[in-house]
Amino acid sequence: MDIEGKTVIVTGAARGIGRAIAEAFAREGAKVVAADLGSLANKSGADWHYALAAESELAQAAREISERGGACMAVEADVSERASCQNLVAETVEAFGGLDILVNNAGIIKLGRLADFAEAEWERMFAVNVKGAFLLAQAAVPYLERRSGLIINIASNAGKRGSAFNSAYCASKFALVGLTQSLAAELAASAIRVNAICPGNVFTPMQFDYLVKHRLQQYPGQSFEAAFDAFVEDTVPLGRKQAPAEIAEAALYMARADSVTGVSLSVDGGSGIGLS
Ligand code: NAD
Repeated sequence: MDIEGKTVIVTGAARGIGRAIAEAFAREGAKVVAADLGSLANKSGADWHYALAAESELAQAAREISERGGACMAVEADVSERASCQNLVAETVEAFGGLDILVNNAGIIKLGRLADFAEAEWERMFAVNVKGAFLLAQAAVPYLERRSGLIINIASNAGKRGSAFNSAYCASKFALVGLTQSLAAELAASAIRVNAICPGNVFTPMQFDYLVKHRLQQYPGQSFEAAFDAFVEDTVPLGRKQAPAEIAEAALYMARADSVTGVSLSVDGGSGIGLS
């Protein structure tokens, strides 16, 4: 697929990996719809253990992408809600006349022991990380099939390998990899490709606002970024973190790779294979 002129929805685009993906597609000449919670982040049920993107971050992301010459529109959406997903696709089609690529990137994480993990937190993680991709695929496919479109799900290395105290997030990302393969098989007849990208360690707010604080106590006295870098050096074969732009590069590849479907591509410095 030639990216120039195509219409792309990116969820969770106000910051982090989603923002980098939105920037990359806009740079390549796509029309980008940057979707995130916006003001919906304040409504009950959408709040989380660490701050999700603020309303101002969504507006700022869309403004800055537009200022650099990209076509970008911000739309507020909570991907866990069917009506919100349908509205996101409807606003996209109304503004840009169709839809070519859906990037399901919005995601949340919470670590915890099985013994006291709250059922509501498990359900919210599945609602955002898995059901959101399912609902948006349902809303988008009638438009994608008119244009030999593409769905890219941002899963995780946690969708290929389990880890202690990470059962809910890992289960949700394994589910997203399963959804990717199943939809790829189902939608091939409609010439829609479905792939996933599995990032490793990317220093986004999800990491520095939450994961580093809860996981990296073995690096006391270090800044969050230094602790993160030390952790990556100690545990990842290539010893390096991934830049959001590297995940975005993989998303551009998925768009151009017309023979690739049903794939979950690790971009993780080898963390999936481990050190030994
Ligand atoms: P992030 O927290 O910086 O960004 C996630 C974005 O999703 C935020 O802007 C947030 O507001 C938005 N969001 C959350 N719930 C939403 C909802 N219900 N509806 C719409 N938007 C919602 O995190 P990130 O690191 O950029 O993560 C992006 C994706 O990459 C996630 O799916 C995450 O699981 C995955 N991932 C991240 C890493 C990493 O190391 N950072 C590694 C592997 C996978």
